Amino acid sequence: MLQIPHRASRDPQGDIKVSFEFFPPKSPEMELNLWESIARLAPLNPSFVSVTYGAGGSTRERTHNTVARIVRETNVVPAAHLTCVGATREEVDAVVRDYLAAGVRHIVALRGDPVGGIGTAFEPHPGGYANSTELIKGIRKLGDFEVIVSAYPEKHPEAKSLEADIDVLEAKVDAGASVAITQFFFENAHYLRYLERVRARGITIPILPGIVPVQNFKQTAGFAAKTGASVPAWLAARFEGLENDPATRKLIAAAVAAEQVLDLVDHGIRDFHFYTMNRADLVFAICHLLGVRHTPAEAAAA
Ligand code: FAD
Repeated sequence: MLQIPHRASRDPQGDIKVSFEFFPPKSPEMELNLWESIARLAPLNPSFVSVTYGAGGSTRERTHNTVARIVRETNVVPAAHLTCVGATREEVDAVVRDYLAAGVRHIVALRGDPVGGIGTAFEPHPGGYANSTELIKGIRKLGDFEVIVSAYPEKHPEAKSLEADIDVLEAKVDAGASVAITQFFFENAHYLRYLERVRARGITIPILPGIVPVQNFKQTAGFAAKTGASVPAWLAARFEGLENDPATRKLIAAAVAAEQVLDLVDHGIRDFHFYTMNRADLVFAICHLLGVRHTPAEAAAA
């Protein structure tokens, strides 16, 4: 049962920070939806908002356009995702230079999934960056970027072991990464154990927990299976029988995510990254519960 202790705010010191992830829109309707979401969440003063890069660089233009519009029209700090897939070093460097010219200073640097899809072997593009570490070094050579990277509390599916994956995280930090965002997870124990192991290795950068409000259980479970994130039986049970009841699913999703973040707060976590799926309502409500709120002046300006 959901138990939220009666406190006015989980953030009495005002030190909880949030960031939000969006994906670039495919249609004018999706674009409208994205900008409505950004307008609703921007007044919460996120540390940054990030915009994903489609598999194989398929959204290169759309990611750039979205990030550039965030720079032009908002006060929030944008972080552009970028992968090594399907492009030469020169092509990737050109994207980075375009970001530099557009005033972008934060890049989420990723290797990306294999061209053949998750589960097939990763083959670097001939003449391309071989892995995320090489990409970070390339980005850092081109400008004074803050480089954000991925982290996998339940290990990346291709990694031999969690320790081997933490070796890779260490190499990414040595190459210049200063923040990591985790793959989503549903059992906080995975994240808290991972954090302990990472800290024991002397890695001190912030490791932001990636929180996904479950808008659509079937879709999230399918995605989790591909990315190596486990889906606990209790989570499946909570959504059972609600396949044709989106309104109740939404209430359950809010309760599940609230329970997860409030438990993390109780474990001393103060920095959260939300996978918004370009929808503001659930994330806005969870931020409100966390005590992350805009001032009336910010709301009026939004
Ligand atoms: P890496 O940390 O580079 O690791 C990938 C695998 O390679 C691991 O198994 C690792 O152990 C191994 N490895 C890495 N370097 C070495 C090395 N030097 N030697 C040996 N082994 C090595 N995908 C997109 O296409 N677009 C996005 O916008 C996007 N955003 C994401 C955001 C976050 C926060 C996360 C967690 C993932 C995101 N992904 C995105 C998915 C990501 O691209 C895939 O998970 C991809 O398979 C791995 O890329 P990576 O940079 O996360 O992994």
